[in-house]
Amino acid sequence: MNKSELQQHDREHLLHPFTDFNDLGQQGTRVITRAEGAYITDIDGTRLLDGMSGLWCCNLGYSRKEISDAIYQQLNTLPFYNSFFQCTTVPSIELADALAEVTPAHMNNVFFTGSGSEANDTNLRLIRRFWDLQDKAEKRIVISRKNGYHGSTIAGASLGGMSGMHKQFQPLDYIEHVQQPYWFAEGGDMSPEEFGIQAARSLDEKIQELGPEKVAAFIAEPIQGAGGVVIPPETYWPEVKKVLEQYDILLVMDEVIFGFGRTGEWFGADYYGIKPDLMTFAKAVTNGYFPLGGTMVSDRVAEVIKSKGGEFTHGYTYSAHPAACMAGLATINILRNEKIIENVRDVTGPYLAKRWAELAEHPIVGEARSLGMVGALELVKDKGSRARFDDDCTAGSVCRDLSIKHGLVMRAVGDAMVIAPPLIITTEQVDELVEKAHRALDDTAKALA
Ligand code: PLP
Repeated sequence: MNKSELQQHDREHLLHPFTDFNDLGQQGTRVITRAEGAYITDIDGTRLLDGMSGLWCCNLGYSRKEISDAIYQQLNTLPFYNSFFQCTTVPSIELADALAEVTPAHMNNVFFTGSGSEANDTNLRLIRRFWDLQDKAEKRIVISRKNGYHGSTIAGASLGGMSGMHKQFQPLDYIEHVQQPYWFAEGGDMSPEEFGIQAARSLDEKIQELGPEKVAAFIAEPIQGAGGVVIPPETYWPEVKKVLEQYDILLVMDEVIFGFGRTGEWFGADYYGIKPDLMTFAKAVTNGYFPLGGTMVSDRVAEVIKSKGGEFTHGYTYSAHPAACMAGLATINILRNEKIIENVRDVTGPYLAKRWAELAEHPIVGEARSLGMVGALELVKDKGSRARFDDDCTAGSVCRDLSIKHGLVMRAVGDAMVIAPPLIITTEQVDELVEKAHRALDDTAKALA
């Protein structure tokens, strides 16, 4: 099929996730056919620097044959077996071991799933089981944050705080949402530090309003990814930690985006020095090459589930899929052997921070923030007042399309332009990324003038 035939068939038969069907009808899909290193190539042969690592997942880029070989070899040896009913496979044991080594020291058990959404469903099941087994059945409510993203199943989307998603289904009624630590959008006249404390206090207030004895857990991304790379002020996490400890509320850290090196540490929890009770992962665990997710379970929670529990009536056919586990092992080996995360922490992360910060000088950029291998630019009409261009988030989508024209994939979250390039990006490629982003900003300014 040629390009237009492919697009026609796509329109006729494929229901795309998170895609406006009107836009799709008018513009057609971009057909990506190849990828190598940090670049993707479309059906016209156009090569783009992938500033989003696929969907925040190909942290090692697209050319790691060790991972595809590991998957292939496993498929030829034992393509499937399940981990239900006292069965197991060698890859699942080896990956569980490796995860226990690279995750925080107090996390030594894993429950495997097929995705991040399924892992957050699993978290809800584990949280309930944990409190029930300790005769605290009244602890039922889970608190999450506005504009957080935790997946797209009913549980994931209920936990998430995306109002656009909530409008299209009936969210679970035992999930409550509190303020996000998004200083640029919501901090007003406060300093980031003051605002960080205030956002954490809003969690305290919500707990008091609901009754601490009824609150089971708080779930949050270390940095909100899909919400626009919302990097919390430094005061936020230490204060949240105090609040949760005070009321004995479990902390679920959703590391689906930030796990496996994106901050320059293995996990966001390491970066912020936090000890979560449960930790969701997916995406980069297999470098995006094979579906796999899971939740790391702290010793405190695992002890209750294992010693008091008997059967945990939960599981997915593809929990601990052997080929996925081999992909995970190969990925962790590369991250370790090639010191990829240390390189982000010491070399490419600081370099990106320096170059990305230069974009704050651009007339339509209100803030340029970054950490490790993520960044965001806030597009504004007026820097002083942080006023946006319009209410329809058009500036973001204009900039995204112009960025693609300049050979760079950035994502628009409203009017925040977001990047999460592969961790293997070189300093020369960081230069290329920043220069392309700059050109996209110039053209956006012209288009919106
Ligand atoms: N949690 C976070 C923080 C995510 O960013 C995502 C996906 O982007 C998910 C959960 C859901 O993961 P999946 O799409 O694999 O279900």
